[in-house]
Amino acid sequence: GKAPVRVLITGAAGQIGYSLAIQVSRGTMLGPEQPIILHLLDIPPAAQSLDGVKMELIDAALPLVHGVLATTDVEEACKDVAIAVMVGGFPRKAGMERKDVMSKNVSIYKSQAAALEKHAAKGVKVLVVANPANTNALILRENAPSIPPENITALTRLDHNRALGQVAERLGVHVSGVRNVIIWGNHSSTQFPDVAHGTAGGRPIPDALRDEAWLRGDFVSTVQQRGAAIIKMRGMSSALSAASSACDHVRNWVLGTEPGTWVSMGVISDGSYGAPKDVIFSFPVKCEGGRWEIVQGLSIDEYAAGKIKVTGDELVEEKELALQCLAG
Ligand code: NDP
Repeated sequence: GKAPVRVLITGAAGQIGYSLAIQVSRGTMLGPEQPIILHLLDIPPAAQSLDGVKMELIDAALPLVHGVLATTDVEEACKDVAIAVMVGGFPRKAGMERKDVMSKNVSIYKSQAAALEKHAAKGVKVLVVANPANTNALILRENAPSIPPENITALTRLDHNRALGQVAERLGVHVSGVRNVIIWGNHSSTQFPDVAHGTAGGRPIPDALRDEAWLRGDFVSTVQQRGAAIIKMRGMSSALSAASSACDHVRNWVLGTEPGTWVSMGVISDGSYGAPKDVIFSFPVKCEGGRWEIVQGLSIDEYAAGKIKVTGDELVEEKELALQCLAG
């Protein structure tokens, strides 16, 4: 059989981590043939809970799992990992300034970047989930100069999948027939969910829907606000869907996207489509042979260009704030 791959999950005692650990263990991320060794990291106050997660993984008698390391030591956690999913982060609490949250995450991502740089397997692929995901990924990149920038990405796949889900529900078709929506920009409320190039059952989504008002109004706000809507319903933020989309992100990155299909990933921007350069920006990407590539040549109308500008401006602002925190 294949040699096991070491997969790091940070914040692994949290909600998303709890759901992610079992999904990865059942092959949802790297395929049903790929054995894994799980590295679960959390902070000392969560150590006991983390050990509980490890006990449950043992109890699940998982054929693909060749070991579970549960630790609060970031250096140990990063040793030889080929995939790193960064879910741990400092959440914004009521009354906290953006800058305070940013400076907490800057210090977390700075030290985790250093540990990954030092200990991870060569070619490690990093996915940042914890918010502000795009900017946390950028901080990680700034502090891990030997990891190629294309190996550091941020999660916008949940937003992408939410957009697919909304279109499928609206049209009353199965979600598997809907493809090539795009999430542009930041994983925040300025993100731009765009269906202009998407198809449903092979037809362009705008033609199938014939409802521009919905597409520019409720559709966009529903996708942007979906996280808040889930919190209202569950009293907790989305976890199983976030974990599921993290698996989708890594699976497509490692094993490829289907011919004719693209997905959304937060990746280092080369300035395509008028996005600012050198921020982690969500683009449509195709993946092959373990590499992503931004889909080129899509037409961008004035409406879309305006939306891309707004979310790009926000990322530049977040980057400046992060760099200030890094320097100070
Ligand atoms: P979750 O597992 O629910 O979420 C973790 C992170 O994912 C948060 O930053 C959250 O951002 C983000 N997130 C949540 N939902 C989504 C979504 N739908 N799409 C994209 N991102 C999302 O939080 P828990 O509090 O349950 O777990 C966090 C873990 O991190 C804990 O186990 C904690 O111990 C650990 N932690 C580690 C730190 C460190 O490494 N130094 C510091 C602090 C915590 P948002 O809150 O904005 O939704």
